[in-house]
Amino acid sequence: MLIKSAEFVCSNTDVRQLPAAQLPEYAFIGRSNVGKSSLINALTNRKGLAKTSQKPGKTQLINHFIINNLWYLVDLPGYGFAQTSKKNKADWQKFIRAYLTQRESLQCVFVLIDSRHEPQKIDLDFCFWLGEQGLPFLLIFTKADKQSAVKTDQNVAKFRKALSKWFEVVPQNFITSAEAKTGTTAILAEIDAINQN
Ligand code: GDP
Repeated sequence: MLIKSAEFVCSNTDVRQLPAAQLPEYAFIGRSNVGKSSLINALTNRKGLAKTSQKPGKTQLINHFIINNLWYLVDLPGYGFAQTSKKNKADWQKFIRAYLTQRESLQCVFVLIDSRHEPQKIDLDFCFWLGEQGLPFLLIFTKADKQSAVKTDQNVAKFRKALSKWFEVVPQNFITSAEAKTGTTAILAEIDAINQN
């Protein structure tokens, strides 16, 4: 898919105020600092589209971007930030859960995982929760340029193995680097394929 246009549409704190659910929608989510904003900018080829390196946990917004006037890319707030209160975490869960479980036009959730680390409980728990809800999701491993391909493959394999205890079919994964701009074509091709169906 060629990105012809990518524009910010709106930020929301309330699922009742989202844009009309008339276009297919793809959500991107992961721990704070996973590289989500950088990946969104790399995917859309727009440097400042998603704001990078915001203070973790500060603003909890659902950001909609419209791509090629055909589909929405949705930037969801990061989960698992250390510097936040219990109340913030509870609010996050309520808000994101409401969005994920109620949005009819949501086609797929892309779960971003830092490829440098061994499987983290918070990421696995989130995937299990998506599975329980019957929400389709795919995995994106980020920051692959930070270590050797062998190390990345090992961490990916460990994550897949952990998921295989719960999922008969472990969702497809993409290995990416926003820095090296790798893995983005495959993600856009997948979105294209889903949009065609
Ligand atoms: P977010 O909080 O998930 O939106 O994460 P950001 O996109 O703001 O990235 C967090 C930090 O990781 C920033 O310092 C980025 O420059 C860095 N980063 C993000 N993606 C990559 C990547 O693919 N490679 C490298 N080397 N650094 C990255």
